[in-house]
Amino acid sequence: MDRYLVFGHPVRHSKSPFIHTLFARQTQQELEYGLAEPAVDEFADSLRSFFAEGGKGCNVTVPFKEQTFALVDRLSPRAKRAGAVNTIKLTDDGVLLGDNTDGAGLVADLKAHGVILTGCRILLLGAGGAARGALAPLLAELPSELVIANRTHAKAEQLAAEFHDLGGVMAQRYELLEGVFDLIINSTSASLQGELPPLAPALIHADIAIYDMMYGTSDTPFIGWARQQGACQVMDGLGMLVEQAAEAFTVWRGIRPGTQQVLRELKRNLGTL
Ligand code: NDP
Repeated sequence: MDRYLVFGHPVRHSKSPFIHTLFARQTQQELEYGLAEPAVDEFADSLRSFFAEGGKGCNVTVPFKEQTFALVDRLSPRAKRAGAVNTIKLTDDGVLLGDNTDGAGLVADLKAHGVILTGCRILLLGAGGAARGALAPLLAELPSELVIANRTHAKAEQLAAEFHDLGGVMAQRYELLEGVFDLIINSTSASLQGELPPLAPALIHADIAIYDMMYGTSDTPFIGWARQQGACQVMDGLGMLVEQAAEAFTVWRGIRPGTQQVLRELKRNLGTL
């Protein structure tokens, strides 16, 4: 049977095996999907062994995404742009192809929630790997504005400069943010420490859409805060997780699984439905 897995550390909490098993059942594909949690300095060897022993593809998550970039034979254009790999496919001619499906997953989930990105005024919080992966797919939707704010401002400036050729993107310091945004995407990991990005409450209004790439069994700190400031449309990153997985599954199997039923099953599994 064709074998796939997700590499991460820690990765035991990962929902990827659950999601891909449902995709396989839905599309009648014969495959198994597992977990691998190598020590950080053993990742490269573990990855090579997996493919040498017949593995067909894998996902890569924290903290291996940047490292993987240098370990594959070839990069897809979107992985090259993102500077990180979250999906590897062993091609028929034996090449390890590195891809990045995070940004496509984010855009697909925003659309599934009815967010219209064309002409949208977007504020992106954070300038780490997830922001990097999101920028090209977001800019391809032709937003009217895309502003990046990050705790370390120089990193936001660097990203804005790097992606400037794809559309209007600029960096701004948190304390200088002003104007009206239609969508705020939180790609920071602040919620992981129970913290909030330092955003002025005045930026939140009743018509704004709030997206937190993080997810959990209850509101993330950022979503909870945004609700308190009057935001009505709030979304967490669970849909992005399922959509990026669907994109990876399509890369591997050449068949696109439906996502909404799987998302409902996942919510039921997490006890949030
Ligand atoms: P990185 O470590 O690469 O980047 C973290 C970012 O968060 C940096 O910009 C950092 O700023 C910022 N940050 C961290 N703590 C704070 C804080 N207290 N206040 C303000 N900013 C802060 O992480 P990733 O980009 O890989 O991931 C970010 C988040 O996105 C994670 O929560 C991850 O789980 C989530 N994610 C979700 C996915 C999904 O499918 N739903 C897919 C990928 C990621 P600085 O530069 O100053 O350090």
